[in-house]
Amino acid sequence: MEALQNRIYLAAMLVLLLISAACATNPVTGEQQLAMMSEADEVALGKQAYPQAIQQYQGPPPQDPELQRYVSKVGDKLARVSHRPHLPWEFIVVNSDEINAFALPGGKVAITRGLLTRFDSEDELAYVLGHEIGHATARHHVSQHARSSLMSLGVLGVGIALGGSGWGGVAQQAAGTVGGLTLLSYSRDQERQADDLGSEYMIKAGYNPKAQLEVMQLFENLRTSEPSFVETLLATHPMDSERIANAKARLAKLPASITSRPLKTKAFEQAMATQRKRAPAYREAVQGDKVLQAKRYSVAARHYAKASKLYGGDGIFDTKRAVALWQGGQRNQALKAAGRGAYLSPGLLLTQNVKAQLNAKAKHWLPAAEGFEGMTVIVPQSAELQLYAGYCYEQAGKNQQAAQRYRRAMRLDPYGKYGQTASQRLRELPGY
Ligand SMILES: [Zn+2]
Repeated sequence: MEALQNRIYLAAMLVLLLISAACATNPVTGEQQLAMMSEADEVALGKQAYPQAIQQYQGPPPQDPELQRYVSKVGDKLARVSHRPHLPWEFIVVNSDEINAFALPGGKVAITRGLLTRFDSEDELAYVLGHEIGHATARHHVSQHARSSLMSLGVLGVGIALGGSGWGGVAQQAAGTVGGLTLLSYSRDQERQADDLGSEYMIKAGYNPKAQLEVMQLFENLRTSEPSFVETLLATHPMDSERIANAKARLAKLPASITSRPLKTKAFEQAMATQRKRAPAYREAVQGDKVLQAKRYSVAARHYAKASKLYGGDGIFDTKRAVALWQGGQRNQALKAAGRGAYLSPGLLLTQNVKAQLNAKAKHWLPAAEGFEGMTVIVPQSAELQLYAGYCYEQAGKNQQAAQRYRRAMRLDPYGKYGQTASQRLRELPGY
């Protein structure tokens, strides 16, 4: 009997192996490729990672739908002439100051405000989007090289204590451990292929491919002038003199009718109008980040205050100010600022996380519960956050709300430590 069971088990394992080692045709090269996942799996994985990846980069810039529409339009134009036009393509601007762009499996592409503001033309944007589309169409995510990174895709985890490492620590905590997919680093061969594809797609879509050279030059310059801002980009998309030489060689082979196409600068500036106006506010906040890292808390708080005076629509300035004030010992002001940040930008893990954690530290349990509750709206599958929300409600004397959150934690994580802790607390809750 045992032998039979073993055989059944082995057969099942074999089937699994065969499925996972199935060959698929690469949509770009037409070659057979050892594919880890089907296209449906690819799309599902990208879709699953998308909301958290966006949170990691501080969500979309507030109140600028024109810019989102514009970037989607440029992206769709390129995707339509790509090797996989049928994917559910989605292009989004994220509000981070970092200079970065990334593609998730299955056709989700993001570009940071930090990078967008460095461009002068739509053609430069088209090159970066085209390059990212190239990574997705050539299925670089599912190749051998990327495999180990994919495995590290984790569930969001948030510690209840505010780390002593200042702003960076807070940001990291709020972003959780979803880095896996956005931090995939491509091989040099994959970079070369993405450059080729990006160039091909932008030419097909009517852009001037010379813009790719300008973008590469920009990255090279930033490498020396602002290394911390391009660190991730250059680590994930290796950049070297060979890429520039290849781009020059590619351009030399093209007819003048293509390389003399007028650069689309006017449409670009029009789409960027709102962000150009807000730029002084974000520059001010970046100054704040720098001095905060140097532990000059009151100077940092002043920079953030000035930033929110220059542009009052982004709660992140208040949230950062809250952290600076808290670290500087001005706790009551910090709690007020944290509340304002979460109120202005309720859809950001960062603002809700700071509100939750600072109030929990101050034992202001109701606003702490609201902060965790705000986070559960963004990440509903996290038992950990449900447990924290429940705990804060319990401390605030709101037993009914506490019981509800504990039950959710138990449903989400029946055998794990969060579900177990929730179940124990529920048993000890008077009246439950
Ligand atoms: Zn790349």
